[in-house]
Amino acid sequence: MKTSIICLPLVTLSLLLSSCSTTPVTGRKQMNLTSESEVAKMSIASFEQMKAQMSISTHAAYNEMLQNVGERISQQVFWDMPMAEWEFVVFDQPEINAFAMPGGKVGVFMGLFQIVETEDELASVVAHEIAHVTARHTHERISQGMVLNAGSSLIGIAAAVSGTAALGNGTYINAAPTIMGLYGIGAGQVAQSWDQGKEAEADHIGIMYMAKAGYDPNAAIRVMERMVELEGGMGGNNNYGSTHPSSMDRLNALHSYLEEAMAEYEQAKAFYY
Ligand SMILES: [Zn+2]
Repeated sequence: MKTSIICLPLVTLSLLLSSCSTTPVTGRKQMNLTSESEVAKMSIASFEQMKAQMSISTHAAYNEMLQNVGERISQQVFWDMPMAEWEFVVFDQPEINAFAMPGGKVGVFMGLFQIVETEDELASVVAHEIAHVTARHTHERISQGMVLNAGSSLIGIAAAVSGTAALGNGTYINAAPTIMGLYGIGAGQVAQSWDQGKEAEADHIGIMYMAKAGYDPNAAIRVMERMVELEGGMGGNNNYGSTHPSSMDRLNALHSYLEEAMAEYEQAKAFYY
């Protein structure tokens, strides 16, 4: 009986530590610290803040293109994000960039249209960004970021958890800057960076989403080819290139997904055309 008394605090402590670790296995436990609805609420608050801080493009053609893409892609990911309140916004920013947030908020910067000309090409970028969300890359980062922001002490971790709990009561004033920080979103910049494994995953999921939505998967290849070209011309210093590394590797990988995606596209085409 004595050992059980001694063990209990140790077990509690180890549970706390394991749920706050950044290793892949306990990374899953972190997900339990932030519920789906709380992550969505925080993201929506961040998006509202972005809309207030950055000017929104009134370019009619690009806005129409994005709304069309948004409607078709969001239909395909319905079962992956059933609670999403979809919103697709063109921000009047010169950078070549786009992002998607949990809760269904998608932003495209005007600069992206330097490498995106057609609706199919835009669909490839939007589908890729949404895939980062449905693959829960964003959730993982938010959970990790909360713990990192709180510091490594147990007291700090407890504060991060209670901060999350407070969100459930509708308080997310402090959460928005945190999420924006995790996305690296400030006026004029979005500095997301994912490791190569996550990029590959988002590319694969993304090209399947676009194909299912009736968009030609070859468009994803064209956009990536322009990325490679741009990186060569700018010494790899452009924004999208630096935040989405190894475009040449990604281009090669995209080619390997093409056959599977084309089969899906041939079926979807009958529905859309
Ligand atoms: Zn990406």
